[in-house]
Amino acid sequence: MNVKNCRKCGKIFNYISGQQICPACIEALEAKFQEVKTYIQEHRDAASITVVAEACGVEVNQIKNWIREERLTFGDDSPMGIECESCGNIIKSGRFCEKCKDSIAKGLIDAAGLNAKKTEPEKKASRDAARMRFLDGKR
Ligand SMILES: [Zn+2]
Ligand SMILES: [Zn+2]
Repeated sequence: MNVKNCRKCGKIFNYISGQQICPACIEALEAKFQEVKTYIQEHRDAASITVVAEACGVEVNQIKNWIREERLTFGDDSPMGIECESCGNIIKSGRFCEKCKDSIAKGLIDAAGLNAKKTEPEKKASRDAARMRFLDGKR
């Protein structure tokens, strides 16, 4: 068992994988996500992420996370977007602009190197998951 403190409320919970957030906070966050999504759908002309964040009572960074996870996307005519993690160009979803994606595919940019520290625990979690699947298969 892997017990950790929730990063949002500080409560101790059984950590499985992904973000270090307890189930109650994940649920609250999920409700916020739906709220933000609905708000964006109803306010297609909303000027910026900051406006949406203030209207919904969510942190700007949280909204950016959802965009990077490609859970939130914007139309080409929307003024909203986030910066490419590599060159800083404004993009509509994901982490990199088309140009940088292309460079990454060609090996010109080391995408893993951009946030190696951030992805390290997740890699371990997926290794553990793979091992568990292996054990399941043997039964
Ligand atoms: Zn919590
Ligand atoms: Zn870029």
